Amino acid sequence: MGSCFYEKGLAFECQGCGYCCSSEPGYVFLSEKDIMSMANGLGLERQQFIDTFCRIVDMGAFKMISLKEKENYDCIFLTEKGCKVYENRPRQCATYPFWAHVLESRETWDEEARSCPGMNKGKLYTKKEIEAKLSSRVENNPVIIM
Ligand code: SF4
Ligand code: SF4
Repeated sequence: MGSCFYEKGLAFECQGCGYCCSSEPGYVFLSEKDIMSMANGLGLERQQFIDTFCRIVDMGAFKMISLKEKENYDCIFLTEKGCKVYENRPRQCATYPFWAHVLESRETWDEEARSCPGMNKGKLYTKKEIEAKLSSRVENNPVIIM
């Protein structure tokens, strides 16, 4: 196999613009660990957390659990001060923008960077750190409801 385009790492530092937590309809799919971490952080039981902050998304053959959005499409946890569950935020959020489909090629990375002003800026993540982000996503697969 040839070398991947991020052999020498990739720069990313969130600029706090809030775009990825708001603005457009989207999903934050949750793993079991995500649900339990946020529920514990908020002092809620698992089901209380799901009933209050989640929606079940019908994917056809199965269903998944996503965070709710407000009417303006902001994430339910987005506040003026930022993410209300930042310390326990879902893996999907904590690993952005190091997602498999974004890391497919330099082109897919640059395409994503058009909507995230933090990409190609600031802290340099090594290939090892990027791969750790990818692995942590795989190890925390979203809940699938059959
Ligand atoms: S779009 Fe990028 S810079 Fe803006 S909040 Fe999201 S991660 Fe941070
Ligand atoms: S959980 Fe936090 S980081 Fe994730 S989309 Fe919602 S506000 Fe943004």
